[in-house]
Amino acid sequence: MLDEDREELAREARYLALQGLVAGREGNLSVRRGGLVAIKGTGVRMLDAGPRDFSVIDMEGRVLEGPRPSSEFRMHLGIYAARPDVGAIVHVHPPYTLSLRALGVAPEPFTEEARLYYDRVCVVPRLPPGGEELASASASAASSGCRAILLEGHGLVFAAGGLKEAVDGAVAEERSSQVQFMSVISELLQKIYLSCADRRKSGG
Ligand SMILES: [Zn+2]
Repeated sequence: MLDEDREELAREARYLALQGLVAGREGNLSVRRGGLVAIKGTGVRMLDAGPRDFSVIDMEGRVLEGPRPSSEFRMHLGIYAARPDVGAIVHVHPPYTLSLRALGVAPEPFTEEARLYYDRVCVVPRLPPGGEELASASASAASSGCRAILLEGHGLVFAAGGLKEAVDGAVAEERSSQVQFMSVISELLQKIYLSCADRRKSGG
């Protein structure tokens, strides 16, 4: 069941790990095909993922094949239920996106590449991972048309029509946040430098 999809999921999981969007057992990804979803099993390291590390579940979360699904399966099912056009979901823990937000700056599509994939980043407040609350908050962000959803202090969800688009969208979002983060830091350093120079000039 969903054999080719599970092979592609495993390949893309390894790619996301190599891009630094997840470490260790973090993150998960899924594909919907008809009324079934193939999703990463719980506790699987993305870097080591193989096709058998993905479970097949139905829209009620019942396991039809494979290991126990990721604890975030409710979030995936909630988004699929809210958005019939979404065929794949990627959830990662991207450091620059989270750092930018922690600085109090809203991540935006900062690069041209990012603008190919999303027009804004919606924010879901900090909620316990794996719970119903996070699932329904993410689903309502997705139903407003958001493809890039930032989970406060936790990670990013990217929803798209197909798996490659969801993966590339998530990678583009993190790269864009990296550039935005560095530009914010450069600006801050420049301000500090200029104010120090001013103080020196005025003998302060
Ligand atoms: Zn997570």
